[in-house]
Amino acid sequence: MQLDFLGDLKRTHRCGDLRSTDAGKTITLMGWVNRRRDHGNLIFIDLRDRSGITQIVFDNERNPEMHERVESVRNEYVLAVTGIVEPRSENTINPKMVTGEIEVIASELRLLNESKVPPFFPGDANINVNEEVRLKYRYLDLRRPEMHANIEMRHRITLAIRNYLSGEGFYEIETPYMTRSTPEGARDYLVPSRVHPGEFYALPQSPQIFKQLLMIGGLDRYFQIARCFRDEDLRADRQPEFTQIDLELAFPTEETIHDVVEGFLNAAFSAAGNKIERPFPQMPYDEAIRRYGIDKPDLRLPAMTDVKACFPADALETLAVDASLPVVVIRTPKVGELSRKERDEHKTLLSDKQSKVIKFLDDFKRLEKSWPDAIAKVRELSGAEPGDLLVLVAAPKKADAAEVSSGDAAAARRQQRDSYAVYSNAGQLRLALAQRYAARHKAFDDKTFKFLWVTDFPSFEWDEQSETWTFAHHPFTSLHEDHMELLDEGVKALHDPNSALGAIRSRAYDVVLNGTELGSGSIRIHQQDVQAKIFEALGMDEAEQKLRFGFFLEALQYGTPPHGGIALGLDRIAMILAGAPSLREVIAFPKTAAATDLMMDAPTPVTDVQLKELSIAIKK
Ligand code: ASP
Repeated sequence: MQLDFLGDLKRTHRCGDLRSTDAGKTITLMGWVNRRRDHGNLIFIDLRDRSGITQIVFDNERNPEMHERVESVRNEYVLAVTGIVEPRSENTINPKMVTGEIEVIASELRLLNESKVPPFFPGDANINVNEEVRLKYRYLDLRRPEMHANIEMRHRITLAIRNYLSGEGFYEIETPYMTRSTPEGARDYLVPSRVHPGEFYALPQSPQIFKQLLMIGGLDRYFQIARCFRDEDLRADRQPEFTQIDLELAFPTEETIHDVVEGFLNAAFSAAGNKIERPFPQMPYDEAIRRYGIDKPDLRLPAMTDVKACFPADALETLAVDASLPVVVIRTPKVGELSRKERDEHKTLLSDKQSKVIKFLDDFKRLEKSWPDAIAKVRELSGAEPGDLLVLVAAPKKADAAEVSSGDAAAARRQQRDSYAVYSNAGQLRLALAQRYAARHKAFDDKTFKFLWVTDFPSFEWDEQSETWTFAHHPFTSLHEDHMELLDEGVKALHDPNSALGAIRSRAYDVVLNGTELGSGSIRIHQQDVQAKIFEALGMDEAEQKLRFGFFLEALQYGTPPHGGIALGLDRIAMILAGAPSLREVIAFPKTAAATDLMMDAPTPVTDVQLKELSIAIKK
């Protein structure tokens, strides 16, 4: 086929622009053939670009020579068309299209490119192909209006965030991709150095250390739409490289940081046409666990209620529950009457492992018969309305239950750990019930955005595998100042699960939306001796501290201001605002769950020459 050059032809409008008020104008459009209908003397072409679609009419009688060429045009061919805008006749107006009141009568055609028959047609409303095909032909997938809308929306919210932060005095500063390992807790992606054989750069898991160094550098307020790299086993909704809205401030309180975050989220959500309520409520970690059994509560459904006090001691005995541990009720609204079978199926909501920690009772009619007063109190405390499902959750009674002696701090901490296990398993059951009855309570249907700050996280987490305490966040997170003594005590018991380390709370905060963590941050440690002690608590002796963080411990000694910050996942925010089912829908070139790029076919082996230059030999 003979193709035309674009020459000096200029586009006057985009394909989604024209309205009936443009009638009579001579215009030029350029785009892809979305659909072509051949009615003999008349050929209709829907021409598409990122803004929309316009119907073009080619009339054999007016222009026979052009007609011949149009007959050979197929879907996804690239055309430039000049013509006159005409109003459509009453009965051919298409109210579903924004350009549906007009059509363009073509007078000139340039055939700019042809196309192989694509594996799917971007113009089809329902492309019925698996995601691998979409990812392999991502450039075709990106032509789909749904993808355009997601990418455009992401652009809009990113711009709103940039503008907001710039207005608040933040500088956008880039930090290196080729750096050394940073401790965010995941595995690093490594880049071998040719110049220094046997040595490696690490791609940053986050700009954490750099942004703190920027504060030491006196830059006061920094932000970056930053790419982060973490080599983790990919769960359904993770990407090996992802984008964070990363920021850091000097001399902040928690409130300063929360205000900034709420401000830019408000800007982003408004840019996507949503309203959010501010200020976001706050909840300390321990309360989140007690009421929701999780550190990222979904506030769209009621909290759990502690109802142990409603029951007389003999009732708990008869129910064979552990009276020393929590007894809570989960309320799921508007579930209505359940059949015996439906209730039986609740058992499948608990795994074997969970069944060892909690048991549940959902036959409230029976419970009511035995303990009418207690159950009336439970109903009242939980705020139950008629039709709500109540499920009572407690720990099964153990044969060897030991009494907790008061005054024994370690025993009290053990007790707390066991209680938290009950809360957290009950919290999982709460979410499972919420999902199961989503069609009835409908709390997940509308666009309600329930934000929350979760604060005062534990600083240390017990790691069952290594039988030691690890830092819950990164190790630059400040503790509560009055918990320093617990730190002194705790470092002496690094391998004891009931160590005082478990009681230390940090000045860390997460911003949570509808049960999803959007981001986390903290006030940082700015004193060198405190930082060194934290490294020590993590089992790093002085030599290792020097090796890994010597430069940072040194920097902290040159007048480091108090500082703090946060990072939020931009991909996740875009996904929520697009109402998309996966992060891949809002990333132009995402990777699969197996961390591969199906379009570029990466990763790949490299040549022997390349390996030799890097002094690397591959073990076969
Ligand atoms: N760098 C941290 C992260 O990526 C966030 C922060 O503390 O600012 O999780």
